[in-house]
Amino acid sequence: MKYKCICDNSDLIECINLGSIPLVNNFKKTYQPKKYPLSMGICKKCMLFQIQKNINPKLMFNNYAHISSGSKSNVSHIKKVFKKISRIKKINNRTKILEIGCNDGTLLEIAQKKTKNVVGVDPAKNLMSKIKKNYLELIPDFFNKKNGEYLKSKYKQFDVIVALNVIPHTINVKEILGQVGKLLSDDGIFFMEGAYFFDTIYKGKFDTIYHEHVSSFTLHSLKNLLNKSKMKIHFAERIPTQGGSIRVIAKKKSSSQQWKKIYRNEKSKNVGKISTYKKAGKLIERIIFKINKNFQKLSASEKVVLLGAPARGVVISHVCNIDQKKIDFAIDDSKTKYNTFFPGKKFKVYNWEKLNKSECKNFFILSWNYKKDLLKKLKKYKKNFNLMVPFPQPKISKLN
Ligand SMILES: [Zn+2]
Repeated sequence: MKYKCICDNSDLIECINLGSIPLVNNFKKTYQPKKYPLSMGICKKCMLFQIQKNINPKLMFNNYAHISSGSKSNVSHIKKVFKKISRIKKINNRTKILEIGCNDGTLLEIAQKKTKNVVGVDPAKNLMSKIKKNYLELIPDFFNKKNGEYLKSKYKQFDVIVALNVIPHTINVKEILGQVGKLLSDDGIFFMEGAYFFDTIYKGKFDTIYHEHVSSFTLHSLKNLLNKSKMKIHFAERIPTQGGSIRVIAKKKSSSQQWKKIYRNEKSKNVGKISTYKKAGKLIERIIFKINKNFQKLSASEKVVLLGAPARGVVISHVCNIDQKKIDFAIDDSKTKYNTFFPGKKFKVYNWEKLNKSECKNFFILSWNYKKDLLKKLKKYKKNFNLMVPFPQPKISKLN
């Protein structure tokens, strides 16, 4: 079957096939067996690396279980984001800020200490309904042409537009960036972050591949997209969040060359060659094999408890075909996940208190990007245990 790129080119070349997995945020009170095929391909024309089959976004985002304030590390990251924005763009009480994908309003709340002119857009009605209403406006919907034009007619322009982990999640990237270009003031900044191909998939971290992550960006593919929306890259940096992300600041006019270093680095890694993406697929196959071997060892004599039930963990457990009979339960910090079934599996997600009633000595950490936080917490409940991490290298350690 031929898949179409978001640039309309109908020639996507498959590079990675991960079989079928459930929707990674589908945490429900009943068992959810439904799975969907998952593979990625590269567009020869615009070089955007993307999911080959798109699922109706309403299935994924209208009731969203991931919450920004769900972990301390994430809240502190969002605070840093706002500091960074303030350093590049002076924020005063007249500054108009728009956040696309505002989730539970963590950033909006920080921003409104400086300016009341704050607008948030997010389709997750379950989260939007809980945000305090002291903002200019909250739109519980997708950011698209319709809402972009509405915002344009009502507020004209915004000085700061933020999209954290949103642009890689959208099928209609062209439509969204087109609206961002129209809404951004002449000296405004567009601030975005998203998982970075060269830090994630390129290194075999397949757990950022899921249906919600429509594309995996390089600075090259982002530049193509931003330029089409009349924006120029002003600043780019690699940041450690989500297992490796890229932060890009774009403006309508900029002569900054700061971002060229990353751009050149991508060239030296053959960003424009299809073989680069196919090689990543081969590496992923080898890593899946290693994770499986480690898990078999870990679960040989006793059941395992999963630490964290993040989106990436749902990917790991399904792509590696982790045997659900060998899992006791999963633990997660997000209240929206308590007492629900882990997507596509027959075991449940609980809070940390559950460990008080469990004799388990074997832990598989799915939220491996928050390993430090989780390990500290685990040590309050357990002594002498085995801990398996899937990345950066699959490994089991004995800890006490
Ligand atoms: Zn394309």
